[in-house]
Amino acid sequence: MYDLHCHSTASDGRLSPGELVALAAENGVTTLALTDHDTVDGLAPAASAAAVYGIALVAGVEISVSWRRRTLHIVGLAFDPADPFLAAGLAGLQAERGRRAARMAEKLEKIGLADALARAQAMAGDGHIARPHFARLLVADGLCPDTNQAFRRYLKPGRPGHVCAEWVELEAAIGWIRGADGIAVLAHPFGYRFSGAWRRRAVAAFAEAGGQALEICTGSSDPAQESTAAEDARRHGLLASVGSDFHAREQAWLRLGRLRRPAADLRTVWQDSKFGPLHG
Ligand code: AMP
Ligand code: MN
Ligand code: MN
Ligand code: MN
Repeated sequence: MYDLHCHSTASDGRLSPGELVALAAENGVTTLALTDHDTVDGLAPAASAAAVYGIALVAGVEISVSWRRRTLHIVGLAFDPADPFLAAGLAGLQAERGRRAARMAEKLEKIGLADALARAQAMAGDGHIARPHFARLLVADGLCPDTNQAFRRYLKPGRPGHVCAEWVELEAAIGWIRGADGIAVLAHPFGYRFSGAWRRRAVAAFAEAGGQALEICTGSSDPAQESTAAEDARRHGLLASVGSDFHAREQAWLRLGRLRRPAADLRTVWQDSKFGPLHG
């Protein structure tokens, strides 16, 4: 069983890389890709744990991309994590995350979230600050009833705690992944709240820029969305990928490793010659 999209404490997940691998093994996952936002820091500890639990760990990352004033997420799979161009690119995105976090903290302090930056950094630990850290602080301080409300009221575009980040261009992100011998996947095509026209435009732009695969089945996709995504993949000759986007056990509707299989006529990323485990 494959799960090729999930998060650890290296970004905005709640389990350490080792805990995540243990849960994957418990859930029957045989091949796991850890895909933290804009970092590969969790891969080495995940690979050590995978060796203990007897599952295959595939190198992964989820890169934040700015595309036509929107954000897209590009998952990289089975690349060389030591590739210097990829590493430099990710370092740039982490610096942008840091700058954005400082600006968000300033705005959130104005609406009553005390000491926002230091507390978000303490919560992120060695990992990188993402919006869910601020969402959890807003809930902890009683400013919002739950993290979903925190996003809706404060953290989404147009809300008082939102700051536009300058992520990387689509072509560059795909170039980093392909340059490191990996497979570039457009993540969760139904996760952007795009209209059908915008989703099709994004898939076309991704394929045009050299992207190789589309995430067909995710932890929150329904069968109708999966068949629409399969159509998109066929139209552009993209491989199929699957990944839960697991972040935390608290996401009760979603389980690490619980995914439907993509339509049988689609070629999958794991059938590609570039696909294989990381030797950690
Ligand atoms: P960032 O990359 O720092 O902008 O944070 C984006 C992350 O926030 C996503 O990867 C999700 O994990 C999380 N997220 C986005 N929207 C919501 C939401 N409405 N409720 C909870 N978490 C969300
Ligand atoms: Mn996330
Ligand atoms: Mn994402
Ligand atoms: Mn994700």
